[in-house]
Amino acid sequence: MKKQYLLIFIFAGLLAIFNSCQKSAEYKALIVTGQNNHNWKASSPILKQLLEQTGLFTAEIVKTPEKKGDMSTFNPDFSKYNVVVIDYNGDSWSDKTKAAFVEYVNNGGGVVIYHGSNNAFPEWKEFNLMTGLGGWGNRSAKDGPYIYFKKDSMIIDTTAGRGGSHAKRHEFEVKMRNTGHPITKGLPARWRHGNDELYSQLRGPGKNMEILATAFADTAGGGTGRSEPMLMTITYGKGRIFHTVLGHADEGGGPAMECVGFIATFQRGAEWAASGKVTQKVPYDFPNAAGVSLRTGFIELSLEYDLSKISQYDITKSTKYFTDLQSRIRNEAKTPEEFQKFEKLMIKVLGNKDATDEGKKLLLGELSWMGSDLCIPVIKELAKKEQLKDAAEFALARLQPAK
Ligand code: ZN
Repeated sequence: MKKQYLLIFIFAGLLAIFNSCQKSAEYKALIVTGQNNHNWKASSPILKQLLEQTGLFTAEIVKTPEKKGDMSTFNPDFSKYNVVVIDYNGDSWSDKTKAAFVEYVNNGGGVVIYHGSNNAFPEWKEFNLMTGLGGWGNRSAKDGPYIYFKKDSMIIDTTAGRGGSHAKRHEFEVKMRNTGHPITKGLPARWRHGNDELYSQLRGPGKNMEILATAFADTAGGGTGRSEPMLMTITYGKGRIFHTVLGHADEGGGPAMECVGFIATFQRGAEWAASGKVTQKVPYDFPNAAGVSLRTGFIELSLEYDLSKISQYDITKSTKYFTDLQSRIRNEAKTPEEFQKFEKLMIKVLGNKDATDEGKKLLLGELSWMGSDLCIPVIKELAKKEQLKDAAEFALARLQPAK
């Protein structure tokens, strides 16, 4: 091989490697919407944003015709996608489209069933096998049993009655039933979910279904007194289905969608449905049993942004950036080195002449329990300042107890 050809060959090889590193998204997602008794115009763009935020997906939204429209025009090529997210509850699809969807799942295509989509297609047997459980749409004993938990046992209940209900919206605790599944691995065993409808009395075939999480529908709030399924996986043919009943959409999303518990389980469930594995890290702001954790505007705050906001803090402003910093420290710092990573950034703010005294007070309080010798010089400096004397001396007393 001539030298210049060899060089071209090497260059082409390097370019190919570079391109494969640049490849940002591994999976293609299709979000199906266009009709829903829910606010699909609000929810579908949010679902797209959440999928793309992971860096794993490129997502497209496809809309069916409007109600009573010509459904024969709706025939997406499902086979082009790794996962199809259903945000739909409306007119029946054409037989051809239904058959194509069944074939897609049978061949190993992933599906996510989101919230009210389990109300859809009460007459379509295959779809109900994919969702496992559904509600409303005149569902009754003919559609399958109620499936729920009583204490730690799963109950399959064939008694007659309606399918689907929910009491008044409220915040509630989600309890994991399997923390070994890729979707739930590493998540807290119990966590508090943002204000949502607690779907209850779902019924369906429940075949090849595993319930990953439930929530107790307290009779005090008008609920069923049962632990109702919240997150499920179903297999159908070679396909994997993740079913979340969480995430009722308000205009702009609202607390049910902004809940980090909803967001992270949706993102992880979609990855699992697409690939059978989950590579995403559990986010630091995942809720725990003590309280709800919401991402306003669906934006995951960055540490730099938190600190810049804290350095402009005064008492008329929100402490949310400080709270965010606190939860990062509590969830991410395990070793002295990791604590010092945060400490050094906080020292920078304390030494910054343009940062506000109120912002510095917040940080002094935090450093008083997690700081090391590193922060003592800057705090001693601040103790000379009238407005910060109290807070600085308090921190010093806790950092240097016996001195
Ligand atoms: Zn709803």
